[in-house]
Amino acid sequence: MLLTFLISAQNIEDLLSSEGPETGFKPYLRIGIKVGVSSFAVEGDAEVLDESGKAAASIQGKYTVTSSGGAISIDKQQIPGKMIKFSPKFMMMKIDGRMFRGEVEVWLENGAMTIVNDLFIEDYVRGVINKEAIPSWPLEAKKTQAVLARTFAVYQKMNSPRSDKFDLAPSVLDQVYDGLDKEDVSSNRAVNETNGEVITKGSIALKIYFHSTCGGQTASSLEVWKKDDPHMTGVKCPYCEKSSLYRWKRVLKADDVSSKLGTGKIRSIKTLSGGQRVSSVEVNGTQFPVNKFREKLGFSVIWSNDFTVKKDGKNLVFEGKGAGHGVGVCQWGMAGMASEGKNYREIINFYLKDIEIRKMY
Ligand SMILES: [Zn+2]
Repeated sequence: MLLTFLISAQNIEDLLSSEGPETGFKPYLRIGIKVGVSSFAVEGDAEVLDESGKAAASIQGKYTVTSSGGAISIDKQQIPGKMIKFSPKFMMMKIDGRMFRGEVEVWLENGAMTIVNDLFIEDYVRGVINKEAIPSWPLEAKKTQAVLARTFAVYQKMNSPRSDKFDLAPSVLDQVYDGLDKEDVSSNRAVNETNGEVITKGSIALKIYFHSTCGGQTASSLEVWKKDDPHMTGVKCPYCEKSSLYRWKRVLKADDVSSKLGTGKIRSIKTLSGGQRVSSVEVNGTQFPVNKFREKLGFSVIWSNDFTVKKDGKNLVFEGKGAGHGVGVCQWGMAGMASEGKNYREIINFYLKDIEIRKMY
């Protein structure tokens, strides 16, 4: 814990200069935590730097940051320029009541503010793994999730940053992140014990998908996204039976479904498939791609793309397997493997083919 604290309390610039020996990769990330706001609250003990990097103010306590007249103001003090940076003394501060590690940049764009949390990747991973995993899962499952979360962050940063100001969004668009509220002892341990490890082929970070529950068989990227990916070709998974969504059933009123789909009264409905999973649903002769169909009815109503449907009087009965798209790593499966004594490397290598787990920094 002491070591963790010392690392957290270091100046972030020191961390940024600690480039990985193999890849030259800089292990920090920029998360766009709010975009297009005209006001927000900050709380902490921090220096405020202007866009040239000079100390322009300091805060100690709670303040309101606003944009007006083409500048950013902290309470009544206007800071000239298009950007300010909060550099907290203890490497954490609150934004609108939520605690964030690292530094916070505020950019003025078209009269509104974009708030960017600039932090060490390990701190980000600590913040997301309990959002993406169940807190009670065994340590090796959390270590698997840590490697997945880190791999995702590194891939996005290197290949498809969200904007020129930040690499990732804090929502389900990327990974759910809202600061350090969700950290706990075992998630921190999972991050520390996999420090810097990323799923790669050679030195290239891979785009690896994961999903809640495969239902017994993971899907190939080719079938679900028409994109051949040699690392995610699908495996039989006997490990996710404990998921409450391993099998599911939903009975929906046909009239509710037709109004959500905009089809008029449902005369016929059937699923179409080019393989194991549903590719589209045909309603009254009109085809809805399965993702569109699930979106219209609700991703937490039609839990996966692996289901059957039949009419039963005024109702439609959906019976399905698993939750999510089914591609890549099955999260309930990784929890099942971990509880059977498998370690995170065995788990990752079970679900993914022809990959390496490599320390990037
Ligand atoms: Zn599974």
